[in-house]
Amino acid sequence: MGTVGNPMIAMAPGQKTGELGVAVTTLEEALEWVAAWGRTRAMWPLLFGLACCAIEMMATQASHYDLSRFGMEIMRASPRQADLMIVAGRVSRKMAPVVRRLYDQMTEPKWVIAMGDCASTGGVFNNYAIVQGVDEIIPVDVYVSGCPPRPEGLIEGILLLHEKIRKGTRSGSSR
Ligand code: SF4
Repeated sequence: MGTVGNPMIAMAPGQKTGELGVAVTTLEEALEWVAAWGRTRAMWPLLFGLACCAIEMMATQASHYDLSRFGMEIMRASPRQADLMIVAGRVSRKMAPVVRRLYDQMTEPKWVIAMGDCASTGGVFNNYAIVQGVDEIIPVDVYVSGCPPRPEGLIEGILLLHEKIRKGTRSGSSR
């Protein structure tokens, strides 16, 4: 999408000419913009948590932080009705196949946020029982640091994901 004015008028940066200008785009770009707009305003997160980070995820969903502002008040108990997985907590080796199965059952397009140090890297649990980052088993779009991250941190991660969707960059969901 771009803006076209009168090319004959020499303008300094930021100078206003009083011309309205014309916005040009293609139908395909416009449809992509509308689709991205819809996706960022109606994400349905999967209802599950793995450890202490999930408490902060619940707080983010509650009235004080209010994810309804982003059209996310519905957390779906079925992966078939969810398009966002927030991995909140450490992933044990025993739980890893379950997380992968849930991810595979989610609808396309789908996104993943690794919430907290444990989900992102294993955190303090540098041992054989914990997956050293959930990106070993599923593709991750956004990593949120912290142990645990505060709700503001998770919201920042969600806003970063929205930006990514608007730019059209996808995770490797075929992995
Ligand atoms: S990052 Fe901290 S708060 Fe989150 S699951 Fe790990 S130990 Fe718990």
